[in-house]
Amino acid sequence: MNTLAWCPRCNREWNGHLECHCPTCHLLFNNIDAFDRHRRRNVCLDPATELRRDGEPAFQPVRRKSGETWGLSGTRDTLPEFLARRNMEVSVNDR
Ligand SMILES: [Zn+2]
Ligand SMILES: [Zn+2]
Repeated sequence: MNTLAWCPRCNREWNGHLECHCPTCHLLFNNIDAFDRHRRRNVCLDPATELRRDGEPAFQPVRRKSGETWGLSGTRDTLPEFLARRNMEVSVNDR
């Protein structure tokens, strides 16, 4: 399960099985849920500024082998303990 995908426009590589690259804004998302969350009416939302209804950040940056990706905050894709268990060699950027 390590199929490398590549985008010729931003020259980024990522794991095509695990991650979703946006062909419009060229950000990388941890999974299809996070990807879907950043699309609204065919427009890309900025995960750095997008908030949930309770005012908390909707996304959290996660550093993976492929570089910075975005995951939905509060899900197992951004919780360090889950990431460590899956041995994904990441550390969460919690600043
Ligand atoms: Zn996008
Ligand atoms: Zn790209």
